[in-house]
Amino acid sequence: MDQATRVGLERMALRHDSKLACRSGCARCCRGVIPVSAPELAGAFRFSAQHCSGGDRVRIDHRLHLRDQGECPFVLDERCAIYPARFFACRQFFMFGKACTADENVWETRHDDIPHPDYPIKQKALALLAAIYGVESREAADAHFLEHFIRDVSAPLHLWNMSQPGAIIADVEERRLHYRRAGS
Ligand code: SF4
Ligand code: SF4
Repeated sequence: MDQATRVGLERMALRHDSKLACRSGCARCCRGVIPVSAPELAGAFRFSAQHCSGGDRVRIDHRLHLRDQGECPFVLDERCAIYPARFFACRQFFMFGKACTADENVWETRHDDIPHPDYPIKQKALALLAAIYGVESREAADAHFLEHFIRDVSAPLHLWNMSQPGAIIADVEERRLHYRRAGS
């Protein structure tokens, strides 16, 4: 996904008359609705358990249990505590021109300032995610199917019951079985 975004950013830089606005410490995009799938969440849990300090883990755990709709539980002091394991949605969202302001819906106000990841490379990244659910590469080659599949297995971050990581991981297996049954 990072490669798809990089290509998209390079294309945007060539045709846009302003520069990338995103900077370290700018985290307004970590608030609001962030669609996430179970494997991405499992990766985030694992990364925070292995790499975050004890103090940060306590803060993250507290916020995971709150299920706050307004802010990602992994943003600490305006920085992503799990940056190398951040979600697909985070990896592809950037702004050109001005930084996003509080409560601004940039999809409505400045849609043209949002770069789009390279579509074919992004599809390959999504196919890898779908493969965790048992989707075969020939099925994932159908862009329409893949788009709907990823939408189906993703949910806004605050809707996941993050006080039970085991249940989130079990969700993958349930859906894999359901998907294989439906396809047979
Ligand atoms: S997308 Fe917006 S809020 Fe997020 S880092 Fe870029 S400018 Fe800041
Ligand atoms: S995972 Fe990181 S980058 Fe993504 S919304 Fe949460 S804090 Fe922000």
